Amino acid sequence: MTPQEANQEASKLDALAWEWGMTVPQFLDTYALDEAVPGICMNPDCLYTARVEPDQEEGWCQVCCTSSVRSALVLAGLI
Ligand SMILES: [Zn+2]
Repeated sequence: MTPQEANQEASKLDALAWEWGMTVPQFLDTYALDEAVPGICMNPDCLYTARVEPDQEEGWCQVCCTSSVRSALVLAGLI
């Protein structure tokens, strides 16, 4: 993973936690053991979010019509 990709994952994780009204640590505590966790589209400028499987890296974004939704736990490097 390049530094740019790591930064992108960190900022997407921040955006996702914010969308759910939590800080990143609260957010990960809340969803770490769930069977369906929030995910976010990884395309620049898209903030589409959806509940996905915890290990999902290629979930469908209904806005972009691409397989670009990644789970919060993948973003956080927990899986
Ligand atoms: Zn999207």
